[in-house]
Amino acid sequence: MSKRIVILGSGESGTGAAILAQQQGYEVFVSDKGTIRAQYKTVLQQHHIPFEEGTHSMDIILGADEIIKSPGIQEKYPVMQAIRAANKPVVGEIEFAWRYCQGKVIAITGSNGKSTCTSLTYHMLKHAGLDVAIGGNIGKSFAELVARTQHEWYVLEISNFQLDDSVTFKPYISVILNITPDHLDSYNYQFERYIDSKFRITMNQTDGDYFIYCADDPVLSDEMSKRTSPFLQNAANILTFTLDDRPHEGAWVADDSIHIQFKQNLFEMTINELALQGKHNQYNSMAAGIVGKVLGLKNENIRESFSDFNGLEHRLEFVAKVHGISFINDSKATNINSTWYALESQTDPVIWIVGGIDKGNDYSLITDLVKKKVKAIVCLGKDNTRIHEAFGKSVDILVNTDNMKDCVEMAYRLGKNGDVVLLSPACASFDLFENFEDRGDQFKNQVRQL
Ligand code: ADP
Repeated sequence: MSKRIVILGSGESGTGAAILAQQQGYEVFVSDKGTIRAQYKTVLQQHHIPFEEGTHSMDIILGADEIIKSPGIQEKYPVMQAIRAANKPVVGEIEFAWRYCQGKVIAITGSNGKSTCTSLTYHMLKHAGLDVAIGGNIGKSFAELVARTQHEWYVLEISNFQLDDSVTFKPYISVILNITPDHLDSYNYQFERYIDSKFRITMNQTDGDYFIYCADDPVLSDEMSKRTSPFLQNAANILTFTLDDRPHEGAWVADDSIHIQFKQNLFEMTINELALQGKHNQYNSMAAGIVGKVLGLKNENIRESFSDFNGLEHRLEFVAKVHGISFINDSKATNINSTWYALESQTDPVIWIVGGIDKGNDYSLITDLVKKKVKAIVCLGKDNTRIHEAFGKSVDILVNTDNMKDCVEMAYRLGKNGDVVLLSPACASFDLFENFEDRGDQFKNQVRQL
């Protein structure tokens, strides 16, 4: 008799896991307490995979031999508590896909820059002619990629939640771009637990593997020097990237050029040739470049892909100039650190659109920058109290809006020739929008109607 597997959650991860589990001969059932989105329902129906929505049938769930948990399902949910009490084996979707993956994995995590660095790395490998797929926390789930066709290489964006459920997942190359406070609400406001979660990316790596991290990041460098994380085994080869130093091996910036040294081989490229501009993108490019060098790609391949890469939507995306006022969509900035880089890279007076669901922001980290760069704040959220408290004394103009039309019109009215309207909300979008893409799309639509 085939083994019974139940999948909790049916978004990208859950649906992908269901397809792979069915392909591997399991008897599959998908259970989602919420509503299943139409696109995923269609996929499940096409594969004749039974599912339920709006409820969890505990008899079916507890009757399974194994449970695959989507990254959004939290341990504190009653369904998880019942599963843990019954001592049922639980596995995450990334871990489940790893069981069947025959290729090598490059896994990229961090608080910010994951999608950018993952996409750039994929672009570079593809350009060099490697058999490579991209997925994980971006695009297709790892499970679905593995179910479709086996590839030699997988470039995966991995979130902290996906790492929490990993057990034997062992990337050939792992990258931590940075660690700044984010998602603290899910870790009982204990930063240490979030840090541990990120370090799980390297916990199974051995001496044939590589671990790449940013040496300028105070949290990462502190952790690497103290080595207190139980997940930091130090077995992998370590390579770093930095703007402040010149490591023996790894990547650095000097004389307006990126340098990447791996073994005897040096790669160099001037910063202004990079398609992705801004300090944060120098970090992303250095991390991707080290991966390229470790894989033995030719310097010209790396150079070409770094200069012709198209940036991603909703990340410091230029939208339009209206009567001399530039509009920039950075809707993906859902925490303080990403907004810091967005503000830092502005050279003209900024009308800053900020707000939404605050995941535990410490606004004092950007107060000086806001004083220097921002002439007016347009709040966009249901509850803007914390923003008023944080910046009421630093910025003269601070107005509230609760929909994108009013918000864009207000920002436009406050601006004059030479100003920048920057949507970089430092908050999640769910109070007023479906997701950050919806928020960014609505912003762009409203700008185009000015
Ligand atoms: P993630 O997938 O980790 O959320 P993205 O590449 O989608 O990262 O970028 C999210 C936000 O962070 C965007 O506003 C982007 O401009 C900013 N960002 C990108 N790379 C970095 C970095 N290395 N450090 C800080 N902020 C960054």
